[in-house]
Amino acid sequence: MRELGLDVRTDQAGNSICSYPGQMPELPPIAMGSHTDTVPDAGHYDGALGVVAAMACARSLAATGIRLRHPIEVINFAAEEATMGGSIGSRAMAGSLDPKILTKPAWDGTLVSDHLRGGGLDPDTLLLARREKGSLACFLELHVEQGGTLEALGLPLGIVEGIVGLRRYKATFEGLANHAGTTPMAGRQDALLMAAPFIMAVHDTAVAHRIVGTVGTIRVLPGTPSVIPGSAELSVETRGLNEAILDETEGRLSDSAKESGGQFSAISKKPPAQSDPRLLDALTSTCEELGVAYRLMPSGAGHDAQCMAHIAPQAMLFVPSRGGISHSPDEYTDPESCVTGARVLLNAVLKIDTILHMEG
Ligand SMILES: [Zn+2]
Repeated sequence: MRELGLDVRTDQAGNSICSYPGQMPELPPIAMGSHTDTVPDAGHYDGALGVVAAMACARSLAATGIRLRHPIEVINFAAEEATMGGSIGSRAMAGSLDPKILTKPAWDGTLVSDHLRGGGLDPDTLLLARREKGSLACFLELHVEQGGTLEALGLPLGIVEGIVGLRRYKATFEGLANHAGTTPMAGRQDALLMAAPFIMAVHDTAVAHRIVGTVGTIRVLPGTPSVIPGSAELSVETRGLNEAILDETEGRLSDSAKESGGQFSAISKKPPAQSDPRLLDALTSTCEELGVAYRLMPSGAGHDAQCMAHIAPQAMLFVPSRGGISHSPDEYTDPESCVTGARVLLNAVLKIDTILHMEG
């Protein structure tokens, strides 16, 4: 980017930001990007493709001397795959990073603040990376789908309608621990058996409401082959685009746990981030003009764009993941789809530059 004469800086949270000036410097920048950090033993595409595509867009503009009205920013977010909730860079920028996580241990027991210092960042000034709501005209992120929907449909592109909200719950069932050999089957109070209809209910309720729901862990006590389970604690997660449907599901699951004699409680709640309708219009009409087949779809995974939704209108593009595989060295997106994604991104930015300016 510097070779093209563009300004590049690193903010207090370690996000690298490249700026390409517009004709009207008083306008907030149109930002695009993703992250280049990844998980251990990862592939080449998750995150990095979105940064490369955004750089390609900025390069096309700079190399041809085209100045838009809005300035352009390419952002490479730091620590999207970090433990402690991830997306440290974009949450710091959006002002939604809880400073408490900095003093907690990370995956290896080392404090998050020490990891940050090791990476050349100052944890005491990290939150200064915050940018105000309205300081960006919008944020666009191209990302690999990390699922198999686009490949199955033979489509090169997905336009993300929104990033799902995520709710976590705990369900507990109290039975009576007793000898597994001497206690007759009749009259047992098996906590795991009490939980069984609830597990089915999580599945059935999710299917009925067209969302996803998962019982991810079961902790059975005392947890030994010769003792009837005395208690069972389950983790439940639901994800969906619509808050009202997530509320309704929550009510159903709470009723279901109680019907089986259990307790149901909420642990955490991340609201869905709906894509901005003007950006969706720009992306869909760009696809139609370029003759690119696409599908509107939700994102089931969290992304930097979800954090940026706190301070800017956002939308995302997905390109297909071969075999639906991600977070693996087998991650692959064919070059044609990568180029198609970047072309749609660039042409949509040209359109958005006009739309947002006209809205004033
Ligand atoms: Zn990612």
